[in-house]
Amino acid sequence: MSPLPAPRTFRVKSFGCQMNVYDGERMAELLAAQGMEAGSEDADLVVLNTCHIREKAAEKVYSDIGRLRRDDGSSPLIAVAGCVAQAEGEEIMARAPSVRVVVGPQAYHRLPELVAEAAQGARASDTEMPADAKFAALPQRTRVGPTAFLTVQEGCDKFCTYCVVPYTRGAEISRPFAALLDEARALVERGAREITLLGQNVNAWAGEDARGRAVGLAGLIRALAELPDLLRIRYTTSHPTDMDADLIAAHADTPKLMPFLHLPVQSGSDRILKAMHRSHSAESYLRLLERVRAARPDIALSGDFIVGFPGEAEADFRLTLELVESVGYAQAYSFKFSSRPGTPAAEMPGQIATAVTDARLQRLQAAINRGQLAFNAASVGQRCMVLVERRGKHPGQWLGKSPWLQSVHFTGDASIGDPVEVELATAGPNSMSGRLLHLATA
Ligand code: SAM
Ligand code: SF4
Repeated sequence: MSPLPAPRTFRVKSFGCQMNVYDGERMAELLAAQGMEAGSEDADLVVLNTCHIREKAAEKVYSDIGRLRRDDGSSPLIAVAGCVAQAEGEEIMARAPSVRVVVGPQAYHRLPELVAEAAQGARASDTEMPADAKFAALPQRTRVGPTAFLTVQEGCDKFCTYCVVPYTRGAEISRPFAALLDEARALVERGAREITLLGQNVNAWAGEDARGRAVGLAGLIRALAELPDLLRIRYTTSHPTDMDADLIAAHADTPKLMPFLHLPVQSGSDRILKAMHRSHSAESYLRLLERVRAARPDIALSGDFIVGFPGEAEADFRLTLELVESVGYAQAYSFKFSSRPGTPAAEMPGQIATAVTDARLQRLQAAINRGQLAFNAASVGQRCMVLVERRGKHPGQWLGKSPWLQSVHFTGDASIGDPVEVELATAGPNSMSGRLLHLATA
């Protein structure tokens, strides 16, 4: 390929989960540390940080590559990162000649090197999966803002039959305790007041604390709660099997840990859960939620659901609807089953017709929306701390999150990063309005 001038500006576009948002920020920090400037639409280097979890998400990368072509027929230097790069690196290189760099989610610390090779005319690729070399090679955090993500765990050993994560992100690894405390301190020094700990199975995190004692996620959360200027801690996504007694106890004994739990169940039918190779039943999941509620009665619950998994009968789907009604989720995500090449579910008999899956998704989403509205309506009148994240659309309006992760807008005298006390005044399905009482004390 012909050489290009070394890129001076860059743009990182992330798709998919919060872990990709985190990775996108780290790539931006890495490029900035090389002297490149964050640029606009017409940046010299565009990094597409992709998602492979569902077919639609994976296909998006090809349409995005096409859209990057400029009017004069040229393209910026295009790098494809993330899980599509990991799963389909060679195919991308073959299908999209304008892509010059392919880099997997465990190798993006090498992005500057690969970009330099590509600028000299090579097509550069790295989809190796070393355990956790990436994090040690990344520069200090430089991002600012009141809320921040911090990846503590990556990968998955659970091999649910529908899921690509164990193949694209590799085996489960936990980042070391000391490195996480250092990164959290750096984020707090730069203005973070809330940190969300991330992992594909974040509650599988395990490590050794400063005294060499074995600790789980609860131990890490309690240590982070000691940082004086950090006001709030959240974590996502959890797996029911890794929800241990200590983490449940942390919801009772650590006030900075917010009363919110995203705990995917996927289906309300044990027959389908077995075919999905989930290690829990509907009943054991519900019992687990009871224990969490006993520890933190006001906890807001969230979940993930897949509809139209191979073999899902109407009766199985009804069990999912019943589970949704009985839990009373504050919010939840629902997805149509997407057949992913190489996963066992893609080869299972009983694939469900699209029209049936579409209709079930609509029914499930209607049930989830009803629950969400009911949860928000029940919060009206509550006084709580809202952490101000940004300005709203109207003059003097601010947006932030309640402890239960509801989006709250209010007007009044405040600034980004302020913890303010608000009375929740009106409820919609996706947001609430609040009445500003005063600046909250941490
Ligand atoms: N590890 C978490 C767990 O299993 O409890 C979930 C993390 S996964 C990356 C995020 C969500 O994507 C899953 O909970 C599932 O609902 C959805 N998902 C994964 N593979 C899918 C597929 N092939 N089709 C549809 N949804 C899928
Ligand atoms: Fe995917 Fe979650 Fe199952 Fe792991 S536990 S395979 S990330 S759905």
